[in-house]
Amino acid sequence: MLNKVFSWAKISIIILTILIIGVSYTYAKRTCATMDVLAQQLASNPKLADKMQEIETFTQQRILTGRALQGIITLPVHVIVVYSTALQNISDAQIESQITVLNQDYSKTNTDWTNTPAEFIDLVADYKIQFTLQGIERYFDSTSELGLYDSVKSAYPAYQPSTHLNMWVCNIGGDYLGYAQFPGGDLSTDGVVFSPQYCGSSDYDDGTFYLDAPFDKGRTATHEVGHWLNLHHIWGDGACGVSDHVDDTPDAEDSNGGCPTHPHNTCSSNDMFMFTEGQKTRSGVIFESGGPRASWYNATGCVGTDACDGAITYTLLTDNFASETSWDLKNSSGTVIQSGSGYTNNTTYTFNWNLAEGQYTFTIYDSYEDGICCAQGNGSYSLVDGCGTTLKSGGDFGSSEIIRV
Ligand SMILES: [Zn+2]
Repeated sequence: MLNKVFSWAKISIIILTILIIGVSYTYAKRTCATMDVLAQQLASNPKLADKMQEIETFTQQRILTGRALQGIITLPVHVIVVYSTALQNISDAQIESQITVLNQDYSKTNTDWTNTPAEFIDLVADYKIQFTLQGIERYFDSTSELGLYDSVKSAYPAYQPSTHLNMWVCNIGGDYLGYAQFPGGDLSTDGVVFSPQYCGSSDYDDGTFYLDAPFDKGRTATHEVGHWLNLHHIWGDGACGVSDHVDDTPDAEDSNGGCPTHPHNTCSSNDMFMFTEGQKTRSGVIFESGGPRASWYNATGCVGTDACDGAITYTLLTDNFASETSWDLKNSSGTVIQSGSGYTNNTTYTFNWNLAEGQYTFTIYDSYEDGICCAQGNGSYSLVDGCGTTLKSGGDFGSSEIIRV
């Protein structure tokens, strides 16, 4: 029920386990500061609570309909390294090892997932998320500890945050491993932050990595990205019974640290240590049309192959009053790049587009303001991407309907 998140595995190898998982974060007095940062954001931004509640309502509605995002989500990652010592200026190889761990953990290809306890193994999810390292920026800053509350982000702002997962690697200080921002917060502060000694995995250490065991398996970022994907701590950030809004995660009393032994029973159930199908569904919703991270999905597509990028098939079936129907496709500047009108009744038209990278808005209009279905015939339209995923299908609208593609 409420709680847990993820970590595949066992525990035995996951020394780190910071995953939002059952295993977690308080080992060796190192903690995730996401909830502290959220509390500060809620206090300073009176609209944030409403926005997050709106997202929660949207998420729960989508989960109830059983709708799940299809295909693989590719998330371009942009890393911003801010260092005050040479040691903190970690190598490209160390950062790349972090991307490797993220790709393994979010595709159920981490070697330790098979160690999942039998009672949970059927719930282990392949998130079908692919992380691609797009760029690394490096900045020297004499501040030795950058602290919490997004202080690093004002000096070193996010790179294209509507389509890139930004990761700040900087020495937070204190006992903090990292923190993340949930969907709904300002784009300018969107992303995850963690300290350099918790970035990457010793499994790939070429002898130059700067890591602090036992948090040296790359699971800090796996955990923080889980928050960015709208997952809450499986222990509900409270006592037993506080929900993480996911149904297939058992309640847990608190985080686990180090290498916990299964079973560890709290809240009348055994603690869990992996990402679950329920969590995957919850995270997938945020990328759907209308979701808070739809721009990522729309910008990068279902990906998997380059052939998917930018390919859109638009199909229109007119109703009994085709002369009322028109549509246009605008680019991010608002310039119409495709449009159509003057159609014949009850006829199917198909358009294939190969759009350059960017944001587009498709709008369909009915001049009589009664849509193309269903009072005056059964007209309909659909937008399908290059991987066969239907971005939108419909026809029952008023004067117009707008879709971001
Ligand atoms: Zn956390």
